[in-house]
Amino acid sequence: MKTNSLLKFLFPAFLVLTVVLQEMPGQTSRMDSLIFEKKLNIIEGSIPLYCSPYYEERGTMAQSLLDHIIGTYSGNGSGIFQLKLAVLDSSRWSGFSFPYGFFFIHQGWIVIPADLDFQKFSHLWGYSGFTQTLTEKLRGVSANPEEFLTDVHYIFTIAHELGHYYTEKVLNASPPDSWTAEWMASYFATDYLHRNDAKTLEGLNIWEQTYTEEITPKYRSLQDFNTRYASVGLQNYVWFHCMFQPMINDIYSEYGTGFMELFAETFPRTGTRNELSQEELLDILDRITGDRASYWVEIMESDPEL
Ligand SMILES: [Zn+2]
Repeated sequence: MKTNSLLKFLFPAFLVLTVVLQEMPGQTSRMDSLIFEKKLNIIEGSIPLYCSPYYEERGTMAQSLLDHIIGTYSGNGSGIFQLKLAVLDSSRWSGFSFPYGFFFIHQGWIVIPADLDFQKFSHLWGYSGFTQTLTEKLRGVSANPEEFLTDVHYIFTIAHELGHYYTEKVLNASPPDSWTAEWMASYFATDYLHRNDAKTLEGLNIWEQTYTEEITPKYRSLQDFNTRYASVGLQNYVWFHCMFQPMINDIYSEYGTGFMELFAETFPRTGTRNELSQEELLDILDRITGDRASYWVEIMESDPEL
C-alpha cells in the first residue's frame, strides 16, 4: 500500500478514534493517572475505593457512608453518581492543588486524608489551643468526644464533597461563585444529617460554634473567600465554612430539603456561568431565603472585636 492511500485509510480511522475517546466517560483523566500510580489497594463497590495500605478501616467507612448517601438521593438510579474515592495517608498526598488536611472533589474523584485523628485534626484545622473547651462541650453528646469529633469531621466533610457533585450533576445547578458552591455542598450534607444522623449534626454545630468563638481569622469577607478561596489557608478556610453553617441551619429550618430544588431553579446550569455582582447575588438569594443570606453575611463580615 502506498503512503498516500495509507494516509487516506488512517485519517478517518484516527478521527473516529478521537471522537470515541472523547465521548467515553471512562476516559483517563489527569487525576486518574495521578492516583493510579500511587500503589493503592482497590476495594470494589458502587463507588470504587483506592486506599493507602493499612488505612482500609477509614477507607471502607468512607465508602459505606458514600453508598448510604447515594442510596438516599438516587431517585433516578444510583448510576447517576459516577465517582471514585481515594483515601490517602500524608506520604501519598502529592501532586494535588490542596495541601494535606483538605478534603476535595475533582474530575470525578473524592479525595480525603486517611489518617487524621483528634490530635492531627486539632493541629491542621487549628483548634489545638482549645481542645479542652471543645471536649467538655461535646461530652454532652458523646462519652468519647475525641473519637466522636473525628467521626463528625469525616462524616460531614465526605457528605459535603458529595454535595458538590449532587448540586452540579444531579440538581443541574450552577452555583454563581465559590461561596454559593461551598455552602450549597454543606446544605446537602446538612440535609443528609437531618434525615439520617441527628447526633453528628449536633456535634457539628457544637464544634463550629466553639471554633468561631475561639478563632480570630485574618480574612472574613465574602469577597476574600471568593477571590482567595483555599489560599486563605486551611484554618481560615475552615473558619469560613463554620460561619456558613448558621445561615444554612436558618434557611433549612424554614425551607428544608425543598430549598435545593429552589436553588437549582434559580441558578440552572446553562453552559455559561452566571456573572453576577456580589450585590446582585445577595439580592437574588435574599428573595429565595427570606433575607437570610445578607443577614448572615453581615454577621460573618463584622469583626466582634472592633
Ligand atoms: Zn467544598
